[in-house]
Amino acid sequence: MVKFYNSLTRKKEEVSSTNGVVKMYSCGPTVYYFPHIGNLRAYLFMDNIRRVLKFNGYKIDGAMNITDVGHLTSDADEGDDKMLVASEREHKSPWEIAKFYTDVFMQDVKLLNIDLPEHIVPATSVISEIIEFVQALLEKGYAYETSKGIYFDIAKFPEYGRLSGMNIQDKLAGARIAVDYEKHTPYDFVLWVKAPKGHIMQWDSPWGKGYPGWHIECSVIGDKFLGENINIHTGGVDHKPVHHENEIAQSNCRYGHQVVKMWMHLEFLQIDGGKMSKSLNNIYRLKDLQERGYAPEDFRFFYFLAHYSKQQNFTFDALDMARNTLKSIKTLVKEHKNGTENVSTAEYEAEFLEAINDDLNMPKAIAVVQKMLKEPRSQNVYAAFDKFNKVLGLTLDETQDVPAQIQELAKQRWNAKNNRDYATADSLRNKISDLGYEIKDSKSGYEILKK
Ligand code: AMP
Ligand code: ZN
Repeated sequence: MVKFYNSLTRKKEEVSSTNGVVKMYSCGPTVYYFPHIGNLRAYLFMDNIRRVLKFNGYKIDGAMNITDVGHLTSDADEGDDKMLVASEREHKSPWEIAKFYTDVFMQDVKLLNIDLPEHIVPATSVISEIIEFVQALLEKGYAYETSKGIYFDIAKFPEYGRLSGMNIQDKLAGARIAVDYEKHTPYDFVLWVKAPKGHIMQWDSPWGKGYPGWHIECSVIGDKFLGENINIHTGGVDHKPVHHENEIAQSNCRYGHQVVKMWMHLEFLQIDGGKMSKSLNNIYRLKDLQERGYAPEDFRFFYFLAHYSKQQNFTFDALDMARNTLKSIKTLVKEHKNGTENVSTAEYEAEFLEAINDDLNMPKAIAVVQKMLKEPRSQNVYAAFDKFNKVLGLTLDETQDVPAQIQELAKQRWNAKNNRDYATADSLRNKISDLGYEIKDSKSGYEILKK
């Protein structure tokens, strides 16, 4: 049974599915700048959930938005649209900005071998559905129009605040005077913005030209691609108090029932024990790590070393440790590939499954892998690892690059050695060497290395 921690009920719960399919929504990137390794942790988290569910035999129907309009510099509807800020910074149109940073994002997630959602949807591709959704909220009386746009009336949704544990009634009672006098309460959030002068991205709507607020795209894309019952919704903890509260309010009010069953939140990646910031010059991209000689996979493996619900501290020492651990795992796996012992892996398989199904306990799962790899070299261990690797997503099978002819000669040599026919074994070793490969023996197996 797969159990994940549901941030909404604050309990570990069994994952639900819809006719055997887990409908999963993940908040995606705002494509106004390069993704940093903290952002990438959020997609490794998504990948982790998807692979663990697949390992357990579930099918997944996943959707993720690409925010290419409407995300203001403050999540609470203030400041400028991030896309426009980038557009001015780089003297490009918002469309060019969106294309460029979407491509960068896709390259990074591919380098990290992230299992991507079935539907990856830019907000600008669902404008008519957004308008329809906002209209439905207006008709049901959950939204109102001002001179600036259409706002969600949170006083109409008494459950507002449940996810982040805030008591909205107390907050409303103590609220300072609203900055915008037309809004019923300061916490009402914008669904549709009437286009202010200078906003390049705008569309016709029943309320004149405008563009969507940021939160509405996730409700609409979830609804369009997954339907009105979503099993899991993921995102970073920063989204809990505003963005996800708003998504819940919009979706539940439109459909008159709870749309998302389980909310899962990822804690932040810290750098050197603190926040990433421009002034500290510590915002790293995947490319920065690659330029320092790390493989994307080293960062992928680094993700496994902390639980997603805990802050993870990034330092280059910690990344080195991850890289070394990964290297030793790979070496052992190769040895097991040609191992000759008979080892039972049933217990390890049970422990691994228990760890991943217990709210994605990856540090424990990795410990199980390490323990198993200490066994005498055995192809059973290799086979078990190969199964686990469906979850880990590591590229281990470098021996595949070794030509079949060399693999065959190595096997013959191993047999000759075991039969104490050392003359044949030596001559085969020389032959392999002439062909550019080297054999490294261990107690119960061998490794083929390119010279
Ligand atoms: P954004 O592109 O800013 O909307 O962020 C994309 C995703 O990255 C969101 O799910 C954020 O919650 C997440 N995120 C941002 N900063 C960090 C961080 N330092 N650690 C982990 N996740 C982060
Ligand atoms: Zn979202």
